[in-house]
Amino acid sequence: MTAPRSTKQRDVISRVLEIAEGPLAVADILARTQSDVPGVGLATVYRTLKLLCDQGSVHPVTLDGETRYEASGRGHHHHFSCTACGRVFTLHACPVSIPSGTVYQGGFVVEAHEITLYGRCPACAATG
Ligand SMILES: [Zn+2]
Ligand SMILES: [Zn+2]
Repeated sequence: MTAPRSTKQRDVISRVLEIAEGPLAVADILARTQSDVPGVGLATVYRTLKLLCDQGSVHPVTLDGETRYEASGRGHHHHFSCTACGRVFTLHACPVSIPSGTVYQGGFVVEAHEITLYGRCPACAATG
């Protein structure tokens, strides 16, 4: 017995996001899914992303006004956006030393932080 088509699409999209270098735009998810599931459409990708988000295994990330998606459970990380090729990478390094619970003047209690780094990815840095 073969798996229903929708299950295969869901599995492929989950895997595309799991092995991705960082959060992916929907157009990238579509292109990468199509290499495994030829003919898959944008509506299916959107529907599947919504399902995976509802399940909590994937979540949206908004970067520079664009919604991207990434697999959940990656731990504390930041995003590196390449200004040359536009790709976004996950970086497990954390440049911020502000422990949760730090209190700033006026009584602002820090719980988390979010940072996007901009620069050149290894491939773009190598081509100068
Ligand atoms: Zn690049
Ligand atoms: Zn951090």
